[in-house]
Amino acid sequence: MENKKLQQLQKHLERARAELWMFYEISNLMRITLKLNEVLYIILTCVTSHEGLGFNRAMLFLVNERKRTLEGKMGIGPDTAEEADKIWKKIEAEKTTLGDLVRASKHLAKRKSGRLDKLVKSIKIPLKESAGILALTVLESMTFEITTDEVSKKVKDPICSLLKTEHFVTVPLRAKEKTIGLILVDNLFTKEPITKDDIRILTMFANQAGLAIENSHLYEKTVSLSHSDSLTNLINHGRFQYLLSKEIKRASRIKKPVSLIMIDIDNFKKLNDTFGHPAGDEVLVTLSKLFKKTCRSADIVARYGGEEFAIVLPDTHKESAWGLAERLRQAVEDTFFSGEKILPHKKLTISLGLASYPYDAKNKDKLILKADAALYQAKAAGKNRTHLYSQGMEQKTAG
Ligand code: GH3
Ligand code: MG
Ligand code: MG
Repeated sequence: MENKKLQQLQKHLERARAELWMFYEISNLMRITLKLNEVLYIILTCVTSHEGLGFNRAMLFLVNERKRTLEGKMGIGPDTAEEADKIWKKIEAEKTTLGDLVRASKHLAKRKSGRLDKLVKSIKIPLKESAGILALTVLESMTFEITTDEVSKKVKDPICSLLKTEHFVTVPLRAKEKTIGLILVDNLFTKEPITKDDIRILTMFANQAGLAIENSHLYEKTVSLSHSDSLTNLINHGRFQYLLSKEIKRASRIKKPVSLIMIDIDNFKKLNDTFGHPAGDEVLVTLSKLFKKTCRSADIVARYGGEEFAIVLPDTHKESAWGLAERLRQAVEDTFFSGEKILPHKKLTISLGLASYPYDAKNKDKLILKADAALYQAKAAGKNRTHLYSQGMEQKTAG
């Protein structure tokens, strides 16, 4: 009898030691990156790997506070039982550790999306009680275990049929005082029961994962702020320089053109001097929105400085860029700006200069100089017009 008790105690201790070791491993792994996509991938790898929590499939959902919705972000797990078997045998044979799996995450997070991942990413539900078990997990900040019985009898939850799962667990992801999302796990392929211990460990893990996600959110927010201009929310000068050289490198690799439009507001000083800088700032904000609205999503709209803007058009020849430049100019002409009647022709207008890689310039600095020279010519020719760069234009500018 004594012996049996001792054996039980020993088993208990070993288990606790293994758990502790796993948590130590996991907390180290979650610190290797701050990029959200990679953090999510690491979290789900820890939940599904044999050396981690060992569930068959794991899915992660995050709250979109602005829209009050819950959005599927990532799903990891095989699509079929055969695939599951193949993966697990491979891991066994190659003795892949959790660390190996996670360190491959940089590469794997960008991998082609599997069927489960696509399905999870397509899920978007309103954050209200009537929306089902996922929303409830977040709103109540509680763990739920849904058993086969409940799936067939009680819970008429669309998520069950969508994921074709019968027995699953949802745990909230908490960060400080708020709940930022949830993890859903199941053992669809092995049909192994999910025990109370499994749920306890998963809940502990989710608390740590929630903090890792929150840190990554803060980091990404800071990075995004450092790239944007606080008045207009457009990309700032530094980011523009970086993105333009990146686009030119890419264009040279794939043998495609890049066009650059430089824009300067006409007679802006007069507007500022008459109505003050805050009124001028409002014009800058309105123009920024107009430019963003008129451009394609792939175009890079930046505040170059003061009242100058720059637009990078990837994969765009001069002729198409010209079309866009003229649309921008026309859109400004068609927009009413308060106080504009004090300006020449009683209208706020812009002038634009356009140059393209590789025809006009072979590198970033020269491309900016040439678009700038074209802009100068547009001003000299009477403003409210677009000029294309032509050879020797910069000499005329200097003269
Ligand atoms: P031009 O048609 O030749 O461009 O004439 P302009 O008066 O627009 O001259 P310029 O381009 O040199 O104008 C610069 C003016 O833009 C100076 C300043 O009053 C205004 N400006 C620059 N940055 C800002 C800003 O951040 N906010 C506001 N409100 N005004 C700015
Ligand atoms: Mg200027
Ligand atoms: Mg100006």
